Amino acid sequence: MADTVRVRFAPSPTGELHIGGARTAIYNWAFARAMGGTFILRIEDTDPERSTEENKQVILRAMRWLGLDWDEGPEVGGEFGPYLQTQRFDTYTEALEILKERGAAYPCFCTKEELDAKRAAAEANEGGYSGYDRTCRALSAEEAQARIDAGEPHVWRLKVPEDHGPVEFDDAVYGHMSFPIDVMDDMILVRTDGTPTYNFAVVCDDANMEVTHVIRGDDHLSNTPRQILIYEALGRPVPTFAHLSMILGADGRKLSKRRNATSVEEYRDRGYLSDALVNFLALLGWSLDGETTIIDRATLCREFSLDRITKKDAVFDETKLDWMNGQYIKEMGADAWAQASRPWLVQSGADEADIDARPEWYAKLYPLVAERLQRLDEVPDKLAYMFWGGRVELDEKSVTKILTKEGARADEVLRAVRDILADESIPWECEPLQERVRTLTETLDMKAKGVFQPVRVAVCGNMVSPPLFESIELLPREDILARIDQTLSEVFGA
Ligand code: GLU
Repeated sequence: MADTVRVRFAPSPTGELHIGGARTAIYNWAFARAMGGTFILRIEDTDPERSTEENKQVILRAMRWLGLDWDEGPEVGGEFGPYLQTQRFDTYTEALEILKERGAAYPCFCTKEELDAKRAAAEANEGGYSGYDRTCRALSAEEAQARIDAGEPHVWRLKVPEDHGPVEFDDAVYGHMSFPIDVMDDMILVRTDGTPTYNFAVVCDDANMEVTHVIRGDDHLSNTPRQILIYEALGRPVPTFAHLSMILGADGRKLSKRRNATSVEEYRDRGYLSDALVNFLALLGWSLDGETTIIDRATLCREFSLDRITKKDAVFDETKLDWMNGQYIKEMGADAWAQASRPWLVQSGADEADIDARPEWYAKLYPLVAERLQRLDEVPDKLAYMFWGGRVELDEKSVTKILTKEGARADEVLRAVRDILADESIPWECEPLQERVRTLTETLDMKAKGVFQPVRVAVCGNMVSPPLFESIELLPREDILARIDQTLSEVFGA
């Protein structure tokens, strides 16, 4: 085995990359980085009915979006390739040859009907079914060969050693594990059609790719003793295993497609940042010190260790993810924000060409919302008013609460504000405009709120928008005046 750490993430391309898979990928990636090791991406596409090229592409895209760069694997290559199981069939054949030579595998000619009947009979008995009854294990080598030569369909099974004690290993998360040998089936390694089973392919690949640590979901825990028997039969060193507990929803139930968003790209499309999602997923079962919550990639890649993984089920708390995403948005800076927000800016009414033409203007929107967003899909709700041009979409509730409320004098205010904003001698900048409008509190003998709120509604359509004069400064004077005029005429018939 290699003396430096080699780990792999081995998704089956039978669907999108889901949250659980992404966490497994992050742990492997961070562990490789922390140990100065190698992170391998291997695509386990041996199930021809469920594996598709499209799913593979979706997984690679999600991995790239998460920023989980792999050192070996599809698109990057590597000396242990190919990294698609369907391209590795000759290596499984070779491994089977080794097992045959070592007398550790045997052909089994039992038909499906025979096996089904045996299982049914066993299940009817008190002891129940405890695996294949090993009929073909008793065949002599000559007879088996004769039947193979005659073209009789057969699978290849592992000859589980009879003198073996319990299968034991020290899991890096679960601790010492022990499985009695007598429950170990003579499992199928190669099917009638020559394709390898999951357990066989995984062991061949992990052995040939010199994987040192297998970090994966604990749904594979029961496969591990079986896989260890295959390593031993091949005479190859057994890697260290680390099994990760389940991720539960806030309701304490397993995450499911129906009740939760489960794929990485769904989270991307709901406006989560990959930095935040990586941070959040890293903490679902691992902790730096039990308290730090914001852990950037660099820290994660330096500090990640297997001994701080817990075997307690992790709970996916979406409120915490939202909060964390908000923290990342606050820190990301204007340019990165404008770049990441592009689809939602377009949804707000921005023009693709305009975004390309005036990146500085778009960057100026960031301070308006940096502290107010938890997800980027909130951008349209917060910023649509910046793209209305000379129109305003008045929110009814704000109109009744602010503009037409008894004694509000909003029409008077709006006319006075219009005069100020129409005065070209005042620079079109936040501070001087705001100061001049503030003088109205004296002239009109009103509270600041009474002056500013109607302007906010007339410009932004509602009473809860981002900072007002900072917004006004970014829009053309004629558009602001047109919005005030529209409000005066729509609401006051003036
Ligand atoms: N391809 C398997 C899966 O997607 C992973 C196998 C493993 O990590 O050993 O569940």
